[in-house]
Amino acid sequence: MDKLNLYEVLGVSKEATPEEIKKNYRKLAKEFHPDKNPDAGEKFKEISFAYEVLSDPEKRRVYDRHGLRGLQEGADGFSADSQDFFAHWFPFGNSAGHSRRDGKILVKLEVSLDEIYQGQQEKLVEYKRQKLCDNCNGHGGPQEGREQCETCGGLGRTAAFTFMGLSAFDAICPNCDGRGFTIKEKMRCKFCRGDGFVDEQMKRKVTVERGVPHMQKLPFPREGHQLRSREFGELVVVMMQGEHALFQRRHANLYMRDLEINITEALCGFTHCFKHLDGRKVCMRTQPGEVLRHNHIKMMRGSGMPVYNQPTHHGDLYVQFKVNMPENGFANAAQLATLETLLPPREQVAVPAEAEEVQLADIKPQGQSRHGRTETDDDDDFAGQSPHFESVQCQTA
Ligand SMILES: [Zn+2]
Ligand SMILES: [Zn+2]
Repeated sequence: MDKLNLYEVLGVSKEATPEEIKKNYRKLAKEFHPDKNPDAGEKFKEISFAYEVLSDPEKRRVYDRHGLRGLQEGADGFSADSQDFFAHWFPFGNSAGHSRRDGKILVKLEVSLDEIYQGQQEKLVEYKRQKLCDNCNGHGGPQEGREQCETCGGLGRTAAFTFMGLSAFDAICPNCDGRGFTIKEKMRCKFCRGDGFVDEQMKRKVTVERGVPHMQKLPFPREGHQLRSREFGELVVVMMQGEHALFQRRHANLYMRDLEINITEALCGFTHCFKHLDGRKVCMRTQPGEVLRHNHIKMMRGSGMPVYNQPTHHGDLYVQFKVNMPENGFANAAQLATLETLLPPREQVAVPAEAEEVQLADIKPQGQSRHGRTETDDDDDFAGQSPHFESVQCQTA
């Protein structure tokens, strides 16, 4: 099922920029628009879906890492159109959408890292569900108003359909919703328009447990859509952890990246205070003479996130340092000579008489090289740090 390649659908490479994606989408959407090309409905759906995923950095990241299955997990964040798409694509899965077969509703709940750290906060989830119409008792109209469904001939099921090579069997008839009949227009219940269902606005309080993982699903039985059988499906609240300005989280560990210190702090000791996720002030310090290298990582044991379901246990907090060097010309010749007496000796190099001496030129940190993008672009671990090399030329003095 993971065969559909969204990049191929839009005719772009996996490295395509958002602009390229948008450009190709527009071109294809024009070409395959149902107004112009009525037979290309499925193709148009594919294109729209591919664009919906690839134009959203978060969805694109999920797709790159986990494929369509990964998207399905988070399908509640998609538009109604995509939910239909998922219903087709994963006909037997418990995909999102107003599937009246299981009545399940997925609702996203945004939670901040602070809330997850502190826990025990109640948040309100608001959502809409379908329930049987009280006015007509879910029948959509009187018994004598019923007529056989034209689409399925009263079977309630439509023939197997194929969708991009996949067969889905026994699809519920979309016209009569599986009932085999519809209600004559004039006799339809005016509250549900003959459908038997009305929308109900729902509220539910959800407690944020300490250390709850990102994408954790919390099930609430019988709080989802009502089914024709009068049973209720399940409500599933998905905890969506927001970004944090200072910390990144991985399981129970926290990461503070690129904490900037200068060379004096790196060599002579430093103190840095920050506000932890519960508001308490924490100060870290190194001893004078303890050298911190660039990209050096230190750990504060037990200062990470509470462990889910074991809230007295905590992960660790890792801090990675970014050592800033002083600007050009920060010291004069005499000061440099003094400084040099404290630092490790320089390597003494004998320059051969015939050697050509060159000056090193600076390179610009942004822009693209003459030969296109650099190979290191894929590695986003420390994005922005890999320079795009301008063609570097030696200037002879
Ligand atoms: Zn009704
Ligand atoms: Zn039907």
